[in-house]
Amino acid sequence: MDERLAPYAAHSATGRGRRYPEAAHASRSQFQRDRDRIIHSSAFRRLEYKTQVFLNHEGDLFRTRLTHSLEVAQVGRSMARNLGLNEDLVEAISLAHDLGHTPFGHVGQDVLNECMRDYGGFEHNLQSLRVVDELEQHYGAFDGLNLMFETREGILKHCSLNNAKQLGELGQRFIDRTQPSLEAQLTNLADEIAYNSHDIDDGLRSGLITIAQLEQVEFFARLWHDVQRSYPGLSGRRAIYETLRRLITALADDLITTSTELLRAAAPADIDAVRAGLPLIRFSDGMRKDATELKRFLRANLYQHYQVNRMRVKASRVVRELYDSFMAEPVLLPPDYLEPSGDIHKQARKIADYIAGMTDRYAIREHRRLFSLDEL
Ligand code: MG
Repeated sequence: MDERLAPYAAHSATGRGRRYPEAAHASRSQFQRDRDRIIHSSAFRRLEYKTQVFLNHEGDLFRTRLTHSLEVAQVGRSMARNLGLNEDLVEAISLAHDLGHTPFGHVGQDVLNECMRDYGGFEHNLQSLRVVDELEQHYGAFDGLNLMFETREGILKHCSLNNAKQLGELGQRFIDRTQPSLEAQLTNLADEIAYNSHDIDDGLRSGLITIAQLEQVEFFARLWHDVQRSYPGLSGRRAIYETLRRLITALADDLITTSTELLRAAAPADIDAVRAGLPLIRFSDGMRKDATELKRFLRANLYQHYQVNRMRVKASRVVRELYDSFMAEPVLLPPDYLEPSGDIHKQARKIADYIAGMTDRYAIREHRRLFSLDEL
């Protein structure tokens, strides 16, 4: 057992193992090894060219899925260390949590899900799991990355009951309504902290939202005015960074304080007790309210801004047209994605895998190759 970790943390030595048993590594813990495998995967490199909110080519400073995932890992690790939890596991889950995302952000998933309605649907969370369990082909002995149970459990944030029934032991917690590890609970909230803060930053940078609008959100206004008091006259990017820095700190500190108290009161003996209990990693009620208000603001003013809508509608057309042409004419597919048996369910899934794996620019290029007479 690792003495630096709390008893209720996920310990490498008592993990629930890998689908294909492997001997322990001499110099790396199980979760370090998972983190390393994720970083060396092809899907991880593709995150660099996948949209978070803004298309990858809209500007060099906007977050992509890659920089988002790195920010989640940073926020997650620093909170994990404070709580005596396993940083390596948090890092592995953070870096893998968006591997299954389609090009063009959430709209890609929604369209693909509609397209796949008769063939089991499409869900990015489940796809992230599929990437690490099956689609990555880097190892001689197995498909996928053969990650630890705890890493896979953390990747699968949510799951419908129907899908859960097909996932065996990994799906069981959605049927039993039990908890995942504290590391998984924490990464989920690190994700929220990261996107709430960086979407404000990107939104302001793009000019789609303004400080004046944000001042209607009480939580933001409080921090913004604190900064003005500390540095009278501070403006521009520095004032924004200084405010967002405080926003991340406020959320992270609140989570640490609240969760420390919950953990002290519940005192789970080990990870099994964690799984059987109530969620123990959370924000205080006040902070939950503040964070929700901020999310609501971003949804109404940024994610549904008409310029973002234009991108969304255009992107949904690209994804749908790619899917429809491949389904109608599977011979257009690269050979790896052509289902030899002709089984329509299997073919649809392979098309979904192909499209989901595309980066934004690859999808645009592929669409052009299929529909433009000037391009072959
Ligand atoms: Mg995320």
